[in-house]
Formats: sequence, C-alpha cells, structure tokens
Amino acid sequence: MAKELNAIVIGSGIAGLASACRLKHLGFKVRVFEAAPSYGGKLAETRLGVFRFDKGPSLFTLPEEVDDLFLFCAKNPRDYYTYKQLPIITKYFFSDGSLVNAYANLEQFKQELQIQLGESKEVLDRFFQYIEKVYNFVSPIFLQHPIKKFYKYLPLSLLKSIRMSLQIGAFQTLAKSNAAWFRNPKTQMLFNRFATYNGSNPYKAPATLNVIPHLEHRLGAYFVEGGMRAAADAIYQLAIDLGVEFQFNAKVDEILLEGKIAKGVRIGKELFMANQVFCNMDVNLAYPHLLKQVAPPQIYLKQEKSSSALVFYWAMDRSFDLLDVHNLVFSANYKEEFECLSEAKVYHDPSIYIYISSKVEEKDAPLNKENWFVMINAPNDTGQNWEEIKREAKANILQRLNNLLHCNVSDYILEETYLGPKEIALHTNSYAGALYGNSSNNRFAAFLRHPHQNGGLKNLSFVGGSTHPGGGIPLCLLSAKIAVNEMDLE
Ligand SMILES: Cc1cc2nc3c(=O)[nH]c(=O)nc-3n(C[C@H](O)[C@H](O)[C@H](O)COP(=O)(O)OP(=O)(O)OC[C@H]3O[C@@H](n4cnc5c(N)ncnc54)[C@H](O)[C@@H]3O)c2cc1C
Repeated sequence: MAKELNAIVIGSGIAGLASACRLKHLGFKVRVFEAAPSYGGKLAETRLGVFRFDKGPSLFTLPEEVDDLFLFCAKNPRDYYTYKQLPIITKYFFSDGSLVNAYANLEQFKQELQIQLGESKEVLDRFFQYIEKVYNFVSPIFLQHPIKKFYKYLPLSLLKSIRMSLQIGAFQTLAKSNAAWFRNPKTQMLFNRFATYNGSNPYKAPATLNVIPHLEHRLGAYFVEGGMRAAADAIYQLAIDLGVEFQFNAKVDEILLEGKIAKGVRIGKELFMANQVFCNMDVNLAYPHLLKQVAPPQIYLKQEKSSSALVFYWAMDRSFDLLDVHNLVFSANYKEEFECLSEAKVYHDPSIYIYISSKVEEKDAPLNKENWFVMINAPNDTGQNWEEIKREAKANILQRLNNLLHCNVSDYILEETYLGPKEIALHTNSYAGALYGNSSNNRFAAFLRHPHQNGGLKNLSFVGGSTHPGGGIPLCLLSAKIAVNEMDLE
C-alpha cells in the first residue's frame, strides 16, 4: 500500500480479532475498540479461586481455520497454540441408563453404535458417506464464499436446483432424515443433537445440518492445550505481535458516515477516523445503535435467532470417573424439550451438557477436584423471570445428576457462578442472548444471514456469528476471512 490506511475494528470477538490480524497483515494501521475489559467476546474464561473455566465455547473443530489465519499472517501457528485429539469426543448418557462413547476413531464409534444401539454397519457406512457428500457440496458454496457468490453456483435449470436441494437435505428436517436413517430413537437423538451446535431445533432445521457430524466425526473434534480460552489468547498475541492496537472499555456509540461511506467511529464525544470500519457487534444491535440513520435490512434481522443457554460453573470437591471431558445426559423426551424452547421456556427435564477441562488440563482444578461447566439449552431473553428459572433448572439438573452419579452432587459443589441469556446479552452485546446469531430453523436460513457488506454502504464490513456463514468459532473465522477478501475501498 502506497500510503498507510487506517482500519477500525469494533469488538474483539473471535471474528474481530481475526479481521484485525488480516487487515494489519495487508498493511493497514489497525485499532480495535472493545467495550469489555478484555478480548475474546464469548470465547472468555472465568475463575472461582484456583478453578479455571472456559466460559463459552468448549468444543474445537476445524483447527485448520485458526491455523489458516496464522499462515496468512506469515506466522507459524504452532508457535502460538497447540491442540490434541481426545480418544472419546463425547460420552452420551440416555435416560434408560444406557451409555454410548463417541470415539474419535470413526470405525470404533460405528462399532459402538452397532453394539450399544443395534444399528447396522451397512447403514452407518452409508450414512457417513452421505454426510461427507453433503459437506463436500455445502462447504465450498456456503462456508468459503460470500453469500452473493452462491447464486453463481446455482445450476441453471429448476430441475437441477431441486435435485441439488434434495441431495443436501434442504427439504427435510434433520430429525426426519435421522429417523429415516436409524432404527433406534437413541441414535436419532444422538445425531439430532448436532442442530444445537448452531443453536437450532432439529425438528425444524434442514437435514443439511448433517454437515456438523461429518465435521466432528470425520474431520475431528479437538482440545486446545490450556483450554478454549488459549485459542483467543493465541490470536490476541498474534494481533499484538503484528502491531494491532487495542483499547478496552471502549464502547463505540456510532459508525460515522459521510453520505454512504463509513469514515470512522464515535466514542462519547471523541471521533476516530478510518478508511475502513469492521463491525464485530451483533448486526441486530449494530443497526439500531451504531447506524441509526440507515434503514435496517429487515430480511436478515427478522430471522429467528439461535437459542441461548443456562450455564452453571461448579468448582467440585471430588472427581467423577464416570464422566469424561465432554458429556451429554439426554432428556427422556428430546422432542418435548425443543417444543418447550419454541415456547420460550426452559424444559423441566433438559438435556445436560457437562464439560470438564480439568480431566486433561491439570492446571484447571486442584488434584482430585474438577471444574464443571454444566449447560442446558435455553430460549432467548424475552423478559422471563430468570432468577426463578435458574433456581428450578438447577434443582432439576441436580436431581438428574444425582441419579446418574449415585450421590448427592450438591454436597460437592464448593463454589458456583452462572451465565444465562441476560448475562450473555449484556456481556457481549448479543441480541437476546443468542449464542450463534440467526438459527437454522428454516430451509432458507443459510441464505438469510447478513452479508459481510451492506451493498448500500462503502468501507464498512460486518463480521461474526450474526453474519454469513453463521456462529461458532470456525465460521466466525471464515466470516473474517471472506469479509477482508471482499471489502471495498472507496
Ligand atoms: C455458552 C456458550 C457456549 C458455546 N459453545 C461453543 C462451542 O462449543 N463451539 C463453538 O465453536 N462455538 C460455541 N459458542 C459460540 C461462539 O462462542 C460464538 O459463535 C463466537 O465466539 C462469536 O464470536 P463473534 O466474533 O461473533 O463475537 P462475540 O464473541 O459475540 O464478541 C463480540 C465482541 O464485540 C464487543 N462489542 C459489541 N458491541 C460493541 C461496541 N459497540 N463497541 C465495542 N465493542 C463492542 C463485545 O463486547 C464482544 O467482545 C458458544 C457460545 C456460548 C456463549
């Protein structure tokens, strides 16, 4: 670049950090304004005395997307962070007392599904081949490119489009598709669960979401050494090494526009000018708060949001051999659980996800003690009485875990902290506490995430979970990559 151009990034969530690094490597002088006291957004951590907890994400997939960011910036990712594969991805507990180990080794996992759930090898082989095909089809079109380029890929004839949609499962719900594949309702439940990876309802979301089990079971699920927060630390360190400047406790109040061109931001009375503005704030809030003079693109903003969560972080006074790093205790009635969520309520018998990083990360808890991250699905915040919901949910969770672990779990809780939809909304400026931006609860959802650029505005890009291609760490990184590739410079 002949003259050094300025870029401002609003927010240091994973997509904000990645955008800042990419822009800096391209030669921009980059300044990140972050409303919170630290970087990472939802990829945060919390502590209870000597116990450390990942506060948000716990499962790490597509590490090549993190590596890609470092390589783009001409750095060796292994100098910044490492990750490993765990032998068991998730331990699944069903309400009838049965248990399925989702082994990282796919053949071993298939064998487990045959032995424990009576599925046939032939069906399992065909299923995993099918979801690989869906992934190979969907990934280059939806994940790697801006949404506008999708139309380039649309086959010319209607017949071909319909055939393509059928192949990727766009006309069928995930639950229907899994019911057609598997005889055992428990196997169906296990694969339906992947809809929750982007905060969706398997009884509404299209079977295209079968790309997620492919991602987890074929491409691999990993554990970042040091816990998930270490991924945010690594990218923040990369940004520092590249020379990105950060200002924390700096909430942007307005994106400055001159006509249709972004010129910088305003924080209180101070103006900061830039040639390029990247906005990592949830788009649903960015329009009403930062772009008051712009007509919001309702088509994207009116879409149903992804679900939220109630998370209890428990410092536990003992260890539990039955549990692994990732555990899921299924509800007795998964369908009813989602019906309840659709009515903006928390189910009385929720599926419970327990993440215990101290099983593999010694520093996260003292010897023979554990750091439990206990999460259930929750609806968005629409003004419910969360204190009451939290109390009831905790009692229901404890009852289920007492039965599973044959002890009084609450006797071992040394200390507790909590995160719910209200706190998620407040801490990371996420609309109604949605974890992943828009949900995938209809077959058009993939086309209706906010694009990285709003056609009418120049020098302004939007990144993060509320934009294309969606939420979750790898997709947020992809949003930064696509947005930087596609940005315009007036
Ligand atoms: C409990 C929980 C569990 C999850 N589990 C997983 C998982 O296992 N795997 C996975 O891949 N994903 C998971 N996710 C989702 C994942 O965390 C998110 O999709 C991802 O981190 C979102 O990143 P983002 O770039 O959109 O920004 P966010 O993390 O939403 O951060 C946005 C940042 O912008 C800042 N900001 C907003 N407005 C302003 C403003 N006006 N001025 C300055 N700064 C501003 C905020 O303070 C925040 O730091 C989980 C999330 C939660 C909460």
